[in-house]
Amino acid sequence: MEYHDRSLSGHLTLSDTGKEVTLAGWVDALRDHGGVLFIHLRDRSGIVQVVFTPESTPQTVYARAGLLKSEFCIRLVGQVVKRAEGTENPGITTGDIEVVAKDLAILSGADTLPFQISEKSMVAGAAVKREEGVAEDLRLQFRYLDLRRPLMQDHLIKRHRIVKAVRDYLDEQGFIEVETPMLTKSTPEGARDYLVPSRHYPSNFYALPQSPQLFKQLLMVGGMERYFQIVRCFRDEDLRPNRQPEFTQLDLEASFIDEEFIYALLEELTVRMFQIGGIQLPRPFARMTWTDAMNSTGSDKPDLRFDMTFKDATDIFAETNYGIFRQILSRDGCIKGINVKGQSERLSKNVLQNEYAKEIVPGFGAKGMTWMKVMDGGLESNIVQFFSDYERNEILRRFGATKGDVILLIADPSWSLVCSALGQLRLHVAQRLDLIPADASYPLWVTNFPLFEATENGVTSNHHPFTMPDRTDFDPENSDELLSLRSRAYDLVVNGEELGGGSIRINDRDIQNRIFKALGLSDSEIEAKFGFFLKALEYGTPPHGGIALGIDRVVAMILGTSSIREVIAFPKNRSAFCPLMQTPSPVPVEQLAELGLLELGRSQSFPGSEEQQDLLDSLSWVSRIRMDAEERPSIAAAIDDAKAYADLINSRCVEDEPMFSVVTVVNRTRQVTEARVSRLAEKGELLKNAPSTKGGYFKVASILE
Ligand code: ASP
Repeated sequence: MEYHDRSLSGHLTLSDTGKEVTLAGWVDALRDHGGVLFIHLRDRSGIVQVVFTPESTPQTVYARAGLLKSEFCIRLVGQVVKRAEGTENPGITTGDIEVVAKDLAILSGADTLPFQISEKSMVAGAAVKREEGVAEDLRLQFRYLDLRRPLMQDHLIKRHRIVKAVRDYLDEQGFIEVETPMLTKSTPEGARDYLVPSRHYPSNFYALPQSPQLFKQLLMVGGMERYFQIVRCFRDEDLRPNRQPEFTQLDLEASFIDEEFIYALLEELTVRMFQIGGIQLPRPFARMTWTDAMNSTGSDKPDLRFDMTFKDATDIFAETNYGIFRQILSRDGCIKGINVKGQSERLSKNVLQNEYAKEIVPGFGAKGMTWMKVMDGGLESNIVQFFSDYERNEILRRFGATKGDVILLIADPSWSLVCSALGQLRLHVAQRLDLIPADASYPLWVTNFPLFEATENGVTSNHHPFTMPDRTDFDPENSDELLSLRSRAYDLVVNGEELGGGSIRINDRDIQNRIFKALGLSDSEIEAKFGFFLKALEYGTPPHGGIALGIDRVVAMILGTSSIREVIAFPKNRSAFCPLMQTPSPVPVEQLAELGLLELGRSQSFPGSEEQQDLLDSLSWVSRIRMDAEERPSIAAAIDDAKAYADLINSRCVEDEPMFSVVTVVNRTRQVTEARVSRLAEKGELLKNAPSTKGGYFKVASILE
């Protein structure tokens, strides 16, 4: 055995001085110092410096060392010596010693690297010259090289420790890890399914699990009482930053418990996980209902590391003479605001009016923003003269405002719009002015969510349809009543990020059935999708509940990485593509035929094919623009015009240079009598990417013209 007495480079210490050691790993860096060759030998444990000199190294070995290049894989034998005083390198843990090489085997050479791997300087105190910003796709394409970087290895090792801490703790608490199927039936978690065609049942599909939700509940029916799993889940979602098509959850479920059991269990578990990254979470974790969270931060995952929570100012303006507020309040609207304490100097009137009120806040969906600065003589702003003395004084009192503060208000007929826009504004201001303390952590349980959300044609579950409502005597056909229901669901939020969520579940067939009905499912749909599950609920189902945490997210937060891809060995890129395997990728047509995919849908028309019978319907379908009946004639006429114009152009089409012309812009599709300036144009955003403007005109590429 050539490796049985191998030592680990990073574990060598001064106490090994004089020992002969066998080491194996990669050449992290090299330096030729006038005949003396130094290398950094790296293995998973760390780095040690190895020296080859013409005097101390046998000649053949010395000659072989001259062939070494970065990332050659080598084995060597050498003697550990203390470094000469003044040559120590505190940048590596073994910086007091080095290994004088006696023998060297090149196990495997390495091609020129696509990017630098070494992270440690060979010269004490010198900065490591790292290439700036290696493109992420290149890193992912050569992930096996990227993973050699000590930083990436550290991420995966810490991830392992965090997951191990989870397993150890849950094992102590009597939880059993049970695997559940990957080839399964759709589980509604709000995303599209990844489907797997079945060869044995042509035209039939398995779905990859969006979560093991139904299985874990069936395990409770099966009497397992306490289940957990570190499990891969698959959701075909629209591309969003920090999402992966497949991701890892800590999924757990327990019987004969209530919310308090989950809160206590998860608090201890989360604290232990964060401790591995050296973060002490404050205990007990705070709690907030969804309504309070929305009312005070405009978010269902509030970041409470900083204050600036909302105050409601609706009542202050009940009798106001200020037209805009009066109009909004007459439509049952609301006015909420935040106090940006002591930041008056950093928020100039220009920034408040021209950036925030005109650009940023409209981008958050609100029509505008009212700002007031608290100065020596009271409130100052462009509209404060419209406020009564009472209104001004009450504002100061309500917001606890003193000199130097800036009060920002948003008013709108819609409560949820006010909450959402002000919530985004709160975060924007906090980030811009650096008001979020870097080292603070704020874990929080958000509870009492609405059970349902309104959709265009009914309601949909806010979490998933297995969540127990706060009341069970609801009428599934009464959507107002449905929308007033709260759920026994809870989300764990840390620093404004949702780390996971769960709920107490429905364990009664009748309630579950009525929830499906409320969601608009017919009896036959319920039977086809969930018949097996309703059946299971008929056999003595214990009360139960659980939760799932997104492990990638938790680890990324603990390690403070910029994205979850940094803590996943082989992630997909932002476009759900794997640059390493170059997948998704086409498959041979034979394989499609074998799976019966070529015949799929033969007897059914393709989506949109009916619309193609008619030109207008087809245009409307392709462009996703709904056409009202009364609009059809004018759109048909516009299309006829366009066709005639195209024919005319064709008939005049000659070899000459095209002419340049300015054509008056006319809205040819919508019959609007008055010309309206686009809001985008007002904000300067219309064609803002156009190359340049000249005398009030955009210069448009001639191809567009
Ligand atoms: N299955 C849920 C999810 O994946 C979590 C749960 O309710 O336990 O979000």
